[in-house]
Amino acid sequence: MEIKRGIPVSPGVAIGPALVVDTEGVRIPRRNVDKAQVSLEIQRLQTALAAAGADARANQQAISDKLGEKYGAIFAAHAMLIEDPELVREIELLITQKLHAAEYAVSRTMRRHAKALASLNQPIFSQRSSDLIDIEKSVLAHLVGRTGDPLQGLQEPAVILAHDLTPSQTANLDPKYVYAFATEAGGKASHTAIMAGVLEIPAVVGLGRLLMDVSGGDEVIVDGNRGVVILNPDEETRERYLVLQKQFGTFAKRLDELRDLPAETKDGTRAVLLGNIEFPQESDHCNDRGADGVGLYRTEFLYLNKTEDPNESEQYEAYMSVLRAIGSKKPVVIRTLDLGADKLFHRSDIQLDEKNPVLGMRSVRLCLRNLALFKTQLRAILRASFHGDVRIMFPMVSTLMELRQCKMILADVKEELDEERIDFNRKILIGTMIEVPSVALMAAEMAKEVNFFSIGTNDLIQYTLAADRTNEHVASLYNAGDPSVLRLIDHVIRAAGKQGIEVCVCGEMSGDPIYTILLLGLGLRQLSMTPQNIPEIKKIIRSINIEEANQAAQEALRFETAREVNNYLREQTRRILPEVVVN
Ligand code: PEP
Ligand code: MG
Repeated sequence: MEIKRGIPVSPGVAIGPALVVDTEGVRIPRRNVDKAQVSLEIQRLQTALAAAGADARANQQAISDKLGEKYGAIFAAHAMLIEDPELVREIELLITQKLHAAEYAVSRTMRRHAKALASLNQPIFSQRSSDLIDIEKSVLAHLVGRTGDPLQGLQEPAVILAHDLTPSQTANLDPKYVYAFATEAGGKASHTAIMAGVLEIPAVVGLGRLLMDVSGGDEVIVDGNRGVVILNPDEETRERYLVLQKQFGTFAKRLDELRDLPAETKDGTRAVLLGNIEFPQESDHCNDRGADGVGLYRTEFLYLNKTEDPNESEQYEAYMSVLRAIGSKKPVVIRTLDLGADKLFHRSDIQLDEKNPVLGMRSVRLCLRNLALFKTQLRAILRASFHGDVRIMFPMVSTLMELRQCKMILADVKEELDEERIDFNRKILIGTMIEVPSVALMAAEMAKEVNFFSIGTNDLIQYTLAADRTNEHVASLYNAGDPSVLRLIDHVIRAAGKQGIEVCVCGEMSGDPIYTILLLGLGLRQLSMTPQNIPEIKKIIRSINIEEANQAAQEALRFETAREVNNYLREQTRRILPEVVVN
């Protein structure tokens, strides 16, 4: 049994067989065989080793002819390893004595040696370690055949283990079969992490080196509440997690009973809890969790996996289907395109070769330079606004001028619609995300320009602390509880209050239970989050008095480090609601 710790990004506990995604389309179908099958497995192994050896020799020849013998020698070394009697014997012993299937025995052996070599931390040995992983792929390919993208067309339950998953790979996971996923890379507020929450798949990211220690078919536990991944659990641990899994399910069920109750403190202060969505279908998740509306519709996901832009009527249809599901009385905040950064799209005309895309041509910056794209979306949003409480929001605004430019383009589009006699809501509310420190500091001026603010803590934390939200190596710096972040949020809420405009938080911080008391105490009355977090946050709100939240927020603002802030808030949350899992 091996226990790994990472960053919890989507709650829930799952137990299932590992599907390791680094084996390039090769899935290990099973772990063990019957005793009667052992000789057949040995035969399969020998045939596959012979074929992989022949491949390596053929590669050696081809590369030597093309680039010279020095390079061909790499494959000669592969062939020698494949034919190494010690290594072959080790694999065979796993088959004969442990009754492992040939695929699993190959994978276990190669990975054990690869890990030992890599841990020596010397370039020559890490090269050998990679050679062994290459050989594993080659032998496995002969044993099971290449199956294409291992994540496509899953027919059996699996826990996905990968170095990293892109937001689009994650969006395409089928929750029916994917019990959970865990990745070596990634940070708390990456869009991959957000997609896990959307699909309600338990997930842990940023685990560091993991794949060397596991083979396809190994049993894995993913605890998305605590950020723990356990490889090959012993019986006692397995039993304990089965109980935890049940408890989590029961707690979630109990929370369901709050669905139609208001998010109101014990002494009657009312909060509005909204859902964040990426796809129109998620409107149902909002309704199921009793959301008061949609506080953030990330429309860039309309562009996911598309080679052509969705046109005006496709966009209008998407917005209308959200309105139809949510109802015309509840707010639906449609955010204009936030393309770029880790939301990469296959568009050759827009994708620029940028050294640092997070600080580059992202979001409104990109829209303001691609006016046709921007205007098409604004037309679709305005047209939908005629049919419900649609609000429009601009992301990643970093200066007052940029916001004014966005408003000017919006005014142009309104004029065009007027000329064409197309209906829209003339009083549509306009908001801006506050997710760049420059505009947080300019909140008083910004507040005069808009009807509402939405604080995007995912980016605000990243840009305030200069810590990439997707990078596990700086995950300890990337911290919502950092005093600098708290002060910026406090400043923005005060500026909004002075101007009498609404303010919401729509980053992941709003769905993290340890920050609920703080955010309420700082004066927030609107929180927008992944729908599955709503019941728990509502439960916390319904368990406190506003006065204790105010005091806790003032206390939290006095601390000088993120650790003190988080310890204090964790304690407060536990005191109020011990069942909540706080990390
Ligand atoms: C944010 O930055 O907090 C936010 C809500 O936007 P996104 O996560 O889509 O960047
Ligand atoms: Mg953002």
